[in-house]
Order: sequence, then structure tokens, then C-alpha cells
Amino acid sequence: MSGKIGVRSPIVEMDGDEMTRIIWSLIKEELITPFLDIDLKYYDLGIKHRDETDDKVTVDAANALKEFGVGVKCATITPNAARVKEYNLKQQWKSPNGTIRSILDGTVFRKPIIIKNIPPAVHKWKKPIIIGRHAYGDIYKNVECVIDRPGSAEIVFTPADGSEKAVLNIHDFKGRGVVMGMHNTEASVRSFARSCINYALGERIDLWFGAKDTISKQYHGFFRDIFAEEVEKAKDKIQQAGIQYRYLLIDDAVAQVIKSDGGMLWACMNYDGDVMSDLVATGFGSLGLMTSVLVSPDGKYEFEAAHGTVVRHYYEHLKGNPTSTNSIASIFAWTGALAKRGEIDNTPDVVKFAKALENIVIRTVESGIMTKDLMLIANPPVAQYARTEEFIGAVAERLRKAI
Ligand code: NAP
Ligand code: MG
Repeated sequence: MSGKIGVRSPIVEMDGDEMTRIIWSLIKEELITPFLDIDLKYYDLGIKHRDETDDKVTVDAANALKEFGVGVKCATITPNAARVKEYNLKQQWKSPNGTIRSILDGTVFRKPIIIKNIPPAVHKWKKPIIIGRHAYGDIYKNVECVIDRPGSAEIVFTPADGSEKAVLNIHDFKGRGVVMGMHNTEASVRSFARSCINYALGERIDLWFGAKDTISKQYHGFFRDIFAEEVEKAKDKIQQAGIQYRYLLIDDAVAQVIKSDGGMLWACMNYDGDVMSDLVATGFGSLGLMTSVLVSPDGKYEFEAAHGTVVRHYYEHLKGNPTSTNSIASIFAWTGALAKRGEIDNTPDVVKFAKALENIVIRTVESGIMTKDLMLIANPPVAQYARTEEFIGAVAERLRKAI
């Protein structure tokens, strides 16, 4: 169409739930479709449609992501027992993010958006700290049990080739206690390391990896060694990009991150990533400023906001009350997908549009127009906050003037 910027290849669009679904359609109507001629492969991952399709739609969306390579996803409900009742579901469907992650075999990177008048809690942080979380194994796929009487706990490995079993004593219990077994695989750790290296190369930022190999010489040492091997393989590219790889003890990494001014990818083992991503998100200000991208080892990208469906705000909205929900991370999911699409397609106009929209969002907040979550931490302080639609409207008005 004339006047619009053409996006050469399709983007997979995954719609979602509750307050973020409301924001989603506002963003699309006001900030995307008026300016871009774009082929969106639409999948409705809203809870009702997942239930109607017996969750087939989630698998279809993941396969479309594999085919087209770039997608953007709205937050979705992961149903628990209460949600099954609330939405009258056939069953407790699995987490859509978990399903998509396992089909793409990806690593999740979380990156905060930095805005001048929203100072981070850690004053020294000037550049984003990106967390790359290994999303397979360790305590998330463990077996564990409470020991209720004296006895011995052992690890037994039975080789499939019939060779001799290996038996390791864990502890001789004199009374009550607890025991856990966990695992990881070389293939998963290797693809995690590769994804992290690729991401750091793409963003031209240093890569840090922390573990506790002084205590866990085998388990954590395994991660350290595989990381080192993959870094060695990518040595030339790392040198060309002018970036560095650092291995640190995890406690040293925590101290160094706090003392730094940011600007690195911090690769974390599964549990460390779970905990540290919440610490870093809160440290930078608001969940509404945290973006998330799933990157597969073969270079497929899915962009989303790190937060959920903001259910408390949605219930207010349903009562007819005004809301002030931050749409920035959702807007940046769109711009992230557009910029990546443009980069892969070699269409600089699309990349330029994405960067322009990001700048306008940041300048809108810097001019004092922001939602309530940001107003509470803004410096200099602002007197009033914008409603959900008002903020998106203000961004749209600036965008129309700029294009
Ligand atoms: P949430 O949606 O992240 O919201 C938690 C609280 O954080 C909100 O109540 C709000 O605080 C604040 N918040 C988060 N995003 C905000 C935004 N954009 N603007 C302003 N405030 C924001 O988490 P939840 O309420 O625990 O979970 C709701 C649903 O989301 C659940 O069904 C869960 O399964 C799902 N979920 C989905 C994803 C995903 O799809 N990636 C991720 C996480 C959770 P106040 O209430 O204090 O204003
Ligand atoms: Mg967590």
C-alpha cells in the first residue's frame, strides 16, 4: 500500500490474555498497522481458544515460528486450578511459553529498557544488564524425597550397555532428612552456551558466566568446561566483535554486577537465572520495562514482555474503572520483532521504523507522560499519571508527526 513501509517477510503474531490482550490490540491498531504493510500470521493463544483447540494452536504457533523465524507474543495465562474454574477449562493446559520453548529449544534473554527519568535502584547501572537463563534441567527436573528413618541414600547409574553400575553414597542418615537428585545434558548446556555467544556477538556486549565450580567440581565444572569449549570455537568472532568472555564464581559475579555500570550478558544456570532475573528487573525499576526474547540455537526469535497478563488491572477494567497499565515492554516486543525481521530481510526502513518507535516511547516518558508504575519511581517526580489508552495515544500522536 502507498505511504506504508513494506515488511518483506511475515511475522508470527501470538495474541494472549486479559489486560495485555487489551493493550495488544491498541498497539496494533495505533502503532503498527497504520504505518506498516505487514503480513502477520495470527495465532490466538488466548485461553479460550487454546481450550477450544485442545492447545493445538500453541503447537501450530511454535511451528510457524520455526518456519518464518520471527514472532511476537502477548502474555498468556498459565492455568492453575483457580483458572480452570474461572474460565471453565477442559484441563490445566501447560504453559504456552514452556511448550514453545521446548519446540524451539531456545534460551530466554531478558533485557531492561533504560529511561533517563526512571533511575535504577542501583545508581551505578547505566546500561542494560541482560540475563540469559538456561531453561532446562537442574532442580526444575529433579527428583526428591523426605527421608523419614535412618538409612543410606545413594546415586546409582546403570549403563545401557550392560557394563558395571556406578554407586555413589550421598549420606548415611541417622534420622529424618531430605535428599534430591538432578541432572543436565551436554547437548542442552552446549546449545545454551552457543545461544549466549550468538546473542553477545549480535549485541556486541561482553559475556559473563558464573557458577560454583569450587564446591561443585563435577556438576558446575561441567558447565564451566562446556562454556569454555564453545567460547574457544568462537574465538575469532569474539575477537572481531571486540567483546570479552569472563568466567566468574557466581558470588563474585553477583558482586561485580552490582558494582558495574551494566552493559553485559550475564549467562546463568537455571536457578540463578530464575532468581537473578527478578532481582535485575526490580533493580531497573518496573516489570513493565523488562523485555524478553527467546532465541533458538538455529536463529529463530520470539519477542515478548517479561510480565504476565496484569490480572489485577484487568479486573478493574472489567468493572469499568480506568487503568494505568504500562504498555512499554509490549511495544518493545513489537519493535524487537520488527527490527530483527528488517535485519534478516535486509530492509533498513523497517529497522529504522522500529528504532524510531522505541525512541518516541522513551522520549514520551522523558517528557513526563507515563503510567502509574513509573510515576511512583520517576525522578524528577511527575504530578499525574497517564491511563493505559492515554499513554499509547500520546505515543501514536508523536509517531504520526515523526513519520
Ligand atoms: P503479572 O501479570 O506480571 O503482574 C504482577 C503485578 O506486577 C501486577 O499486578 C502489577 O502490580 C505489576 N505489573 C506487571 N506488569 C505490569 C505492567 N505492564 N504495568 C503495570 N504494572 C505491572 O503477574 P501475575 O498477576 O502474577 O500473573 C497474571 C497471569 O499472567 C497469570 O495467569 C500468569 O500465568 C501469567 N503470566 C504469563 C507470563 C507470560 O505469558 N510470559 C509471564 C508471567 C505470568 P500492581 O497490581 O501492584 O499494579
Ligand atoms: Mg523468578
